[in-house]
This record gives sequence, structure tokens and C-alpha cells, in this order.
Amino acid sequence: MTTVEDFTQLATGSVALLEGEVARCPACGRNGVVKRPENETPYCIHAEESEMLCDGMRTDPTDCCRLPQ
Ligand SMILES: [Zn+2]
Repeated sequence: MTTVEDFTQLATGSVALLEGEVARCPACGRNGVVKRPENETPYCIHAEESEMLCDGMRTDPTDCCRLPQ
């Protein structure tokens, strides 16, 4: 089963279940969840697809922006 979550529809300050707090993307101005992985370029997820597998959950961002460092 695949579900698509659209973070652009969530209000800033609300918390997306799997990803974290929703904020406004500095790159495109839509809402999304900003990720700042260590040693990698930060990015903002606007939509992601998640799939329930027998060994857990797999998520793929379908719409995201790369942010300036
Ligand atoms: Zn964006």
C-alpha cells in the first residue's frame, strides 16, 4: 500500500508524523519539512510517498527543494 503525504497543505508549526515540524521553504515559499542531515546539503520535503513493506516503512520524497547551506 502506498500513501502520498503532501506537506504543503499543513500549517507551519504543525508536526508531520514521520518527519518533523512544518516550516516555510526558503527556496520556493511553500510549506514543507526542512531536513538538515549532517555533512549533507539541507533540503525541504514538500511531498513524499511512503510504502508499507514487510520489514518496515519506506519513504521517498517526490517533491523537495535543495536549500543553500
Ligand atoms: Zn521548496
